[in-house]
This record gives sequence, structure tokens and C-alpha cells, in this order.
Amino acid sequence: MRFTVAIDGPAAAGKGTISRAVAAQFGFAHLDTGLLYRAVGAMVLEGADPVAAAQALAPDDLERPGLRGAEAAEAASKVAAIPEVRAALVAFQRSFARRVGGAVLDGRDIGTVICPEAEAKLFVTASAEVRAARRWKELCAAGAQVPLEQVLADVRARDARDSGRAAAPLRAAAEARVIDTTGMSIDAAVAAAVAEVERALRRA
Ligand code: C5P
Repeated sequence: MRFTVAIDGPAAAGKGTISRAVAAQFGFAHLDTGLLYRAVGAMVLEGADPVAAAQALAPDDLERPGLRGAEAAEAASKVAAIPEVRAALVAFQRSFARRVGGAVLDGRDIGTVICPEAEAKLFVTASAEVRAARRWKELCAAGAQVPLEQVLADVRARDARDSGRAAAPLRAAAEARVIDTTGMSIDAAVAAAVAEVERALRRA
């Protein structure tokens, strides 16, 4: 069976948690596509050419330490605006999306560009303040000392870059089910996502 769940949305909206829960619930494979851009960004921070790094990206590169940090995120959103970088990463994502057994991909352009034919499309969002507060708590729990205002400024800058770029900007696909997690518990958000995927499975 081929069945793709596309989950898009801005940084720290809860996409990762929801994607992992949906994948576990239905036994689908999961790809966090942000990691591809983070790995390219990390290589660029070490002096690599962005397009060459994207073209040569290998599975091991996704295991690099530090990819979840703020520096890699910032570098990722810069390289993600380069059309040739995005083009180099398309084929891998498309073949993952159509693998046998079902797949969940989370990112910014999965339902719009990578897999417009996805059977289920979700757009997970939340206010910038709530997203920044969640990210700040994660960073503090990991031992980082950074002011909340700084995290909020980073979130806003990344939103502006991701939504404003010409190549595959962040936006909800017309048919995506929008889940606004601003005032929602994670359990409620996961339940809404699972219900939407169940509906799509019945339609498929
Ligand atoms: O999702 P995550 O925060 O890990 O993504 C890091 C950056 O990679 C995003 O800010 C965005 O610029 C870029 N990205 C993208 N398209 C995707 C996934 C991530 O442009 N499908």
C-alpha cells in the first residue's frame, strides 16, 4: 500500500511530535525533512558549498551531532531558500513518500511541492509566542541559557524567511486540514491528526 501523510507548518508548532505519533499509530515510516536542510546548513557552516553539499548528502550526514540546535536551524533556513538546494533534495523525499507501507513526511512544502498527491495533508500551526515558549523550555531543559525574547525573535525571523522566500514558501495546501495547537494539549493535537488520517484511509 502507498499512502502519504504530508505534515507542514512553521517551526516548533508540534509537527515533529504529531508526525512521530501518527507514524507509530499506523505503522508508517517517518521522515523529518527539516533534518535534510539542517544537515546541509551544518556543512555550509563548516565551509561547504550549499548546492554541492545538498547534491552529495548521504544518510550518515543526518546523524551529525548538533543538527537540532539553533545554529543549524538558522543555517538550514538560509540554504532552504536556494532553489538548487531544494531541487537536489526532491527525489529522495518523493521516493520516501511513495514507499510501500505508508510514509509520514513533515516539513514546509510536503503537501504543496514534494507530494501534492499525498492522501492526507495536515498543516500544524500555533502562535509565534506559544511556539517560542515551547522551544525555550526545550532549550532550558537541555541546559542552554538563552532569553525567551531571543528565541521569539529567532522564531519570527525563521517564519519570515520560510514564508517569504520565492522557492517553495511555507503555506498550507488548499485541501490541508489545519490544526492550530496554540491552546491545545499535545494529546488533543495528536488525536485530531489521527482522526484526519483515519478519514483519509477510509477514502483511499
Ligand atoms: O523543521 P525544521 O525546523 O527542522 O526545519 C529547519 C529549516 O529547514 C526550516 O526553517 C526551513 O527553512 C527548512 N525546511 C524547508 N523545507 C522543509 C523542511 C525544512 O525549507 N520541507
